[in-house]
Amino acid sequence: MNAATETGIVGEAERLPWLPLLPWQRAGVGALLRRRDAFPHALLIHGPRGIGKLALALNLAQGLLCESPDDEGLACGTCSGCRYAAAGAHPDLLRLELLVYDDDGLHLQAVETIAVDRVRGLIDFVQLSSHRQRAKVAVIAPAERMNAAAANALLKTLEEPPPATFLLLVTAQPGRLPATVRSRCRPFPAPQPSPAEALAWLATRGIADAPLALAQAGGAPLAALAHADPARLAERAVWLDALARPERLPVPAIAARIDAGGKDERKARLAQALEWLLLWTGDLARVVDGGDARRNPDFAGPLAALAARVAPLALFRYHRAVLGQRALLAHPLQPRLVAEALLVDYVALFN
Ligand SMILES: [Zn+2]
Repeated sequence: MNAATETGIVGEAERLPWLPLLPWQRAGVGALLRRRDAFPHALLIHGPRGIGKLALALNLAQGLLCESPDDEGLACGTCSGCRYAAAGAHPDLLRLELLVYDDDGLHLQAVETIAVDRVRGLIDFVQLSSHRQRAKVAVIAPAERMNAAAANALLKTLEEPPPATFLLLVTAQPGRLPATVRSRCRPFPAPQPSPAEALAWLATRGIADAPLALAQAGGAPLAALAHADPARLAERAVWLDALARPERLPVPAIAARIDAGGKDERKARLAQALEWLLLWTGDLARVVDGGDARRNPDFAGPLAALAARVAPLALFRYHRAVLGQRALLAHPLQPRLVAEALLVDYVALFN
């Protein structure tokens, strides 16, 4: 999409990023695309966060739009259809994600929900005949972010899509979709990599301590990329070193680490701290129960020592309180105060 401004300067619009097919998805994608005549018109791709569900949806879309697919039905990657799709410019591919163009029509900005006007746009889109005569494909990700009106507006199209129209819904939380939407889609569990496949893929991305990043991400390789960020690892070390020694935990100083930057940054820092607290107390509960420090294997020693000192019921209540705080993240009071209160309660677990 190009936009001419009053000065006559033509700007190039940002495009939604393309995501390549992941190695553990080839077989699943091939199995669906090989039998194109049986490809469901509404597919609900579900599975945990960070395993590549959106990449899967985009590559299925590319396969459906490819103008010379291989014997497996996989996209060739080189035809016009494939190239337009990957460049974010295929006229028969519509992507409803949490990015929309702002007023200038050039820049993408993040939104919280997929609103009804965008679903109405989708309905108009599928009713037009296809530009390149292969198919019309719409990707909705994350589908559970459609608001109620949007989900409702989609029902009729889900039920009776025009011929050669494919709707690919993506969600990590299928339970948050209305049952009316779920029941109109064929569920498809996104393939998950084995630990070896995930580690091999992370190695190709140059991740230094891939096993630790993967452990923190619960085995989800795309999420592991974020965990491997050096700045994040350094901050994690500060927090976890503090949690490992509750009797010496400098509560105000640690809580104050939330306070850097503007409002959104403070919120993000609190979200990050809550995640570390959840993974840490989750590990602690597992160790109390005779299990392993699965998410923080590099702190197995301190976790074992703490497990011997904590009352299981108090730990359970605390973990639940942290979960409760995470649910309130959208409107936290004062991020630093939330962190401070949680740290005070954490220290009290070991008194
Ligand atoms: Zn192609």
